[in-house]
Amino acid sequence: MPGRITLATPGPTNMPERIRRAIDIPLEDHRAPDIPAFMLPLFEDLKKIFKTKAGRVFIFPASGTGGWEAAISNTLSPGDKVLAARHGQFSHLWIALCRRHKLDVAMIESDWREGSPVDWYAEQLAADKEHRIKAVLVCHNETSTGVTSDVAAIRRALVQANHPALLFVDGVSSVASIDFRMDEWGVDVAVSGSQKGFMLPAGMAIVGVGPRAIEATKKSECPRAFFDFGDMIKTNDQGYFPYTPPKTLIRGLRESVDMLLEEGLENVFARHHRLGEGVRCAVRGWGLELCPKDPKWYSDSVSAIMVPKGFDSGDLIKLAYSRYQLSLGLGLTGVAGKLFRIAHMGDLNELMVLSAISGAEMAMRDLGMDVAAGSGIAPAEEYLRATAKPADIGGAIAVGQ
Ligand SMILES: *Cc1c(COP(=O)(O)O)cnc(C)c1O
Repeated sequence: MPGRITLATPGPTNMPERIRRAIDIPLEDHRAPDIPAFMLPLFEDLKKIFKTKAGRVFIFPASGTGGWEAAISNTLSPGDKVLAARHGQFSHLWIALCRRHKLDVAMIESDWREGSPVDWYAEQLAADKEHRIKAVLVCHNETSTGVTSDVAAIRRALVQANHPALLFVDGVSSVASIDFRMDEWGVDVAVSGSQKGFMLPAGMAIVGVGPRAIEATKKSECPRAFFDFGDMIKTNDQGYFPYTPPKTLIRGLRESVDMLLEEGLENVFARHHRLGEGVRCAVRGWGLELCPKDPKWYSDSVSAIMVPKGFDSGDLIKLAYSRYQLSLGLGLTGVAGKLFRIAHMGDLNELMVLSAISGAEMAMRDLGMDVAAGSGIAPAEEYLRATAKPADIGGAIAVGQ
């Protein structure tokens, strides 16, 4: 098939050429004497991405799921009570993982179209006078529904209840994608992965860990070996790893972090917001609904778009792929068949987002949905034109002409 597949999935995201070149290298000895000079500054720079000075960042050869396991198995003991809301596929999976580790999960089934129920967390914490709750789990950006939660508000609930529980955040599609502030929000463990905002292949769990979580490892009795923070600390402090690290991917991570810091994290977030707004303009133009009920939940890394009744989003996704080589995100479990997703995070610009919008629009029309030609792509184009940076051609052409 000539041309490229348009990748609009929320992980993996598009990999920039710079990263592709950075990992297209001969393999290296991970115990070579010059490795610490490469690794130690990278660990420091990763802290900037998580916005932590007090904490540290571990790199595990794993996917984000491994990061979830690392968070709980290092800090908790079987039978410990943790609080979590299930409002999407990823919060669901983290809860299931906690149960396999024999944690006692106090859970609320909450609306998949809303963010984490802060009031519920606050009530549970205030009522827990004996401090039986050891950790609070929050999915910052539910990638399955395009719903973002208010992590700072959960921290406030902990503070108001004067509760010592650890705060664990799934930041797989938020760290390096949308505003994430580990220290300011008092996040004790922040889990991320390589294949979303970091624009890399899957294969690394990137985990920010604060001092309280490191302290908690001393009492934790969950069995762990591969994900042990202690082994990591001993070797990472020397610039090495306790086992063979995915060195090629880590070369890519160096490039990714350089790219994020060169653009500036706030600029990255603003770009994702603007591209996300472009997609949201298209959704309104189509007369469709986003999964999140309220704009305050809108995610700037992915939009989940509800298809009209009588249609199956799975058919749409298959058709878009086979006819137009467009990979859209599927609707997962609780929303299977009901929505499709367009990612707007990572290595992406206006025309890449417009390709996804255009392909989705064509495929929806092919399926017979009541979506007019151009009804989504035109408002998206107009929004992106109106908000474009002034053209850098000697000032001859201003935006809006
Ligand atoms: C992608 C993702 C994960 C991790 O999934 P893996 O397939 O294990 O990398 C976890 N949480 C969220 C919110 C995600 O988007």
